[in-house]
Amino acid sequence: METKQFKAESKRLLDMMINSIYTHKEIFLREVISNASDAIDKLYFKSLTDTSVGMNKSDFAIDLAVDKEKRTLTISDNGIGMTEEDLENNLGTIANSGSFAFKKDNDLGDDVDIIGQFGVGFYSTFMVAKEVTVVTKAYGSDQAYEWKSNGVDGYTVEPCEKDSVGTTITLVLKDDTDDEKYSRFLDEHQIQSLVKKYSDYIRFPIRMEIEHTHYHEDGEEPEVHKAIETLNSMTPIWKKNKSELTEEDYNNFYVEKFLDYEPPITHIHSKNEGLATYDALLYIPSRAPFDYYSKDYEKGLQLYSSGVMIMEKCADLLPDYFSFVKGVVDSEDLSLNISRELLQHDRQLKIIEKNLEKAIKNELKKLMKNDREKYEKFYSVFGLQFKFGIYQTYGAANEMLRDLLMFPSSFEGKNVTLDEYVERMKEDQKYIFYACGESKERIEMLPQLEKVKEKGYEVLYCTQDIDEFALKVLINYKDKQFKSISDADLDLDTEEEKEQAKKLDEENKDMFEFMQKAIEGKVKTVRLSKRLKSHPVCLSSDGGPITIEMEKVLKAMPQNSNENIKAEKALEINPEHPIFEKLKELFANDKDKLSEYTKLLYDQALLIEGLSIEDPVEFANLVCGLMC
Ligand code: ADP
Repeated sequence: METKQFKAESKRLLDMMINSIYTHKEIFLREVISNASDAIDKLYFKSLTDTSVGMNKSDFAIDLAVDKEKRTLTISDNGIGMTEEDLENNLGTIANSGSFAFKKDNDLGDDVDIIGQFGVGFYSTFMVAKEVTVVTKAYGSDQAYEWKSNGVDGYTVEPCEKDSVGTTITLVLKDDTDDEKYSRFLDEHQIQSLVKKYSDYIRFPIRMEIEHTHYHEDGEEPEVHKAIETLNSMTPIWKKNKSELTEEDYNNFYVEKFLDYEPPITHIHSKNEGLATYDALLYIPSRAPFDYYSKDYEKGLQLYSSGVMIMEKCADLLPDYFSFVKGVVDSEDLSLNISRELLQHDRQLKIIEKNLEKAIKNELKKLMKNDREKYEKFYSVFGLQFKFGIYQTYGAANEMLRDLLMFPSSFEGKNVTLDEYVERMKEDQKYIFYACGESKERIEMLPQLEKVKEKGYEVLYCTQDIDEFALKVLINYKDKQFKSISDADLDLDTEEEKEQAKKLDEENKDMFEFMQKAIEGKVKTVRLSKRLKSHPVCLSSDGGPITIEMEKVLKAMPQNSNENIKAEKALEINPEHPIFEKLKELFANDKDKLSEYTKLLYDQALLIEGLSIEDPVEFANLVCGLMC
């Protein structure tokens, strides 16, 4: 018989598993039980639509047995079983299972403790067993197969005898060491409590023969009874009453079911009757899955119909902006045979989706109110999603999402919500001001910011590319319009100041026109600035649909690299700055020099704005010209 080697990745993970010093070795049991339950699910599902399976729900079970002398623990199921090919594909390679992809994508070292903390599947058996034998017969097949491995030297597969369909896994436990008593997995009571802890909700009975000893008061020989008992309550956790469940129950279920090693930030357990009848248990994870920001990530909730899983990831139950939510929805209103296509148009499902969406929003708002720190942590991981949501739905999701947004702000350097901003607005303040830039630090250096801050107005800092796009879609919040501090007219001045500025503008009209000609095509106008305090120049957006910040973002997108995307810009000159007098003097006496200075000022403004200058060589030459 040929011994086959595990695929390379499997071998590495196996090594880690076997040599793992991880203390939660016990999780191997929940892994094999959950595989058994999945296998039963598959056959049970078939039996509902295909009478030739000839089995009822009550016929399905997972049986555990121990043999203390042989040091074996056996887990049997009468699920769908595996063909020879399945054995090769499923147990010969681990690369297909989520665990390895996780490790690879996160580039974690070999000694990381993720092993055992989440779904490592079948391979976790090698943490406790020196030999694993899988005897299995697939539904619809006449031949059974035996897969055997000691983890280290590869595995063998050969035909064998097995009467009924299903899988039996036999673990020969490792020998006890000083640190690790593997024999505890031969103890019925230990196993009983592990099943309660990790697998209580499994919907099929997990049975084991349990020994009970009756002691007599009169010193007679104690009586030993043996009876097959069902160890799990079989009620799925989402069907239970909230009052029966502890935080730990919720978290255990989450960690096991959704293969996360960190407990969730919060959960939502809702039971609904009325237009749609369903139970839902949703979780908000505390970290993004490794593939969350890749296109491989699939959103969705697990969908059950009266306790039978009909879809692993039902995407229609979650809008994209809540795609991070994990959970289970169980509704008796849905048909078992419903196809993906039909499901999309299902009225019940739509009602459920709307309800869940509201429930998620309310839970997040509650979290924001009651545990700000937790909310901010959550927001730093998933908040981007809300801004994309607003932008991508062209405003349809405004109402759902705007109250969940947060921005860093000039107010005590804190993250603030739009509501908090508006509450704090000054009486004379017309707008919600925001400033865009790569980082808080960068924004704080923007010349345009000075005057707005001097007026005592709070400014939201938009540091993510999507921010301004989202604000443009929002338009306003509680009737207050959003206004970029780079917008054409900030309306900051008093009537008197406005009069004065107008006069000054008039007086220098010809000079500004001359300057605009000097940098023709680059800016739409050159004008007096009403927003600068100590800086000489800045660029501002001059109307038009695209702002300077949006130009930057759009240009950075690969699909736009050849497009001529340009914001309409204005070059603004600070009349309070000494350079203004200099310019006036040049306009009177040396127009050539004024041309050069205008170019220089424009380039400076570009640099401050974080844009690149169009002709660096010319810029360098002009600066050198000044130096010599
Ligand atoms: P995962 O469960 O994450 O896919 P596992 O390593 O636990 O990874 O299992 C690999 C695959 O082996 C399963 O997806 C399933 O197809 C198959 N398998 C494992 N145990 C059983 C079983 N008891 N009955 C049928 N198939 C099984």
